[in-house]
Amino acid sequence: MNMENDKVEKTKIDFIKRQVEKNYYLGEYKERVLVALNKSQIIEDGVYREIEDSLKDKRAYLLKMSRDIGITALKPYIKMAEDLNIRYELIDSISLQGDIGLVVVSKEAVEINKDNVVLRDIDQDFLDVGLSEAHSKNRGKAICKKCYSDIEKVLPKYKEEYRVINFLDKLVGCSCPICLKK
Ligand SMILES: [Zn+2]
Repeated sequence: MNMENDKVEKTKIDFIKRQVEKNYYLGEYKERVLVALNKSQIIEDGVYREIEDSLKDKRAYLLKMSRDIGITALKPYIKMAEDLNIRYELIDSISLQGDIGLVVVSKEAVEINKDNVVLRDIDQDFLDVGLSEAHSKNRGKAICKKCYSDIEKVLPKYKEEYRVINFLDKLVGCSCPICLKK
């Protein structure tokens, strides 16, 4: 009986839903987002190379980042955009919601057959093979032989991102940030 009204109501709800969604994706419609990162991924993890791949996608036209993350953590992504001649914007987060810190945006809706446009966390690679978040978060650091060989055994593709604590490190009292052994 009230089919027409239901339809209007549904359109209204969809509209509101889309507006709310925009606040999550740094002011962009989710359907235009090629890929996204959470703030914690940008701040705590190394650089996600997938963002570079996404910026090379011919549909990519804009890189948006949340300003409150800070320029230090954003710099590698800004450089990627500059090198590839992609425009970038820093967004003030007053009206924003949620955890998204970076989006690569297309001009038009993109076919996404996944619910989540946020990249898989690097930490997950480590957790999947039985290592800890500490292993993941200490990429780029000097670690002990034991921890290095653990990584080499189960996750060799990341081993280049560590080095083994040497004699000099030991002299200055450097300890392994993963197992905390001296
Ligand atoms: Zn260790």
